[in-house]
Amino acid sequence: MAAGTEPKPETLAAFEAAKGFMPVHEGLALYAAAAEAGGLGLPLLEVGTYCGRSTLLLADAARQAGTVAVTVDHHRGSEEQQPGWEYHDPQVVDPELGLMDTLPTFRRTLRRAGFEDDVIAIVGRSPQVAKVWNGPVGLVFIDGGHTDEHANGDYEGWAPHLAEGGLLAIHDVIPDPAKGGQAPYRVYLRALASGSFTEVSATDSLRVLRRTAPGI
Ligand code: SAH
Ligand code: MG
Repeated sequence: MAAGTEPKPETLAAFEAAKGFMPVHEGLALYAAAAEAGGLGLPLLEVGTYCGRSTLLLADAARQAGTVAVTVDHHRGSEEQQPGWEYHDPQVVDPELGLMDTLPTFRRTLRRAGFEDDVIAIVGRSPQVAKVWNGPVGLVFIDGGHTDEHANGDYEGWAPHLAEGGLLAIHDVIPDPAKGGQAPYRVYLRALASGSFTEVSATDSLRVLRRTAPGI
């Protein structure tokens, strides 16, 4: 790998220690995409902060590139993370409200890794934030809700802001219906079918596409 396409060892260690849902080999591919996209000098945008695991990689790439990572989450968790569901973690529940709240854990993750100055965290619903966002981004990383409504909302909200030459990364792309939900996979197919994107890499469930023409 060329210099700059791997995160700093401290960042990788912080990533591995952080709560979250991204395995290391996919994280390295995400970092490589973020490092390349950082060359555009534009913000790197993530949907789905959770506890900041993948955010650390975008933060490292953003700092190297002299730009910033922007990460969006309402911090109340996706469907499958709610109490009683497969991916629920009782450590990230606000005891007063009895609702999920991943924001405090995220802020600790970011602080401990020393990336507070490299990340703008937005607490809100992805489509609402996208609607008021007004500027080009170099990377759109979609790792939010896994229903068709949410995955399509993320794509429709953020892909239009992706600069030409910028990268669209989608996590949890699982072509085999026996192995998991299909919404991110359908969004990936939709992006390819739009004619505005070409595939750059596939690392397990992480797909990276490049914007080669306007539109979605
Ligand atoms: N990137 C994280 C994992 C994200 S999990 C990691 O590396 O570990 C998905 C996150 O998306 C959850 O925290 C959930 O709250 C958030 N989410 C789901 N739907 C959303 C929406 N419509 N708007 C904002 N955030 C959303
Ligand atoms: Mg994911």
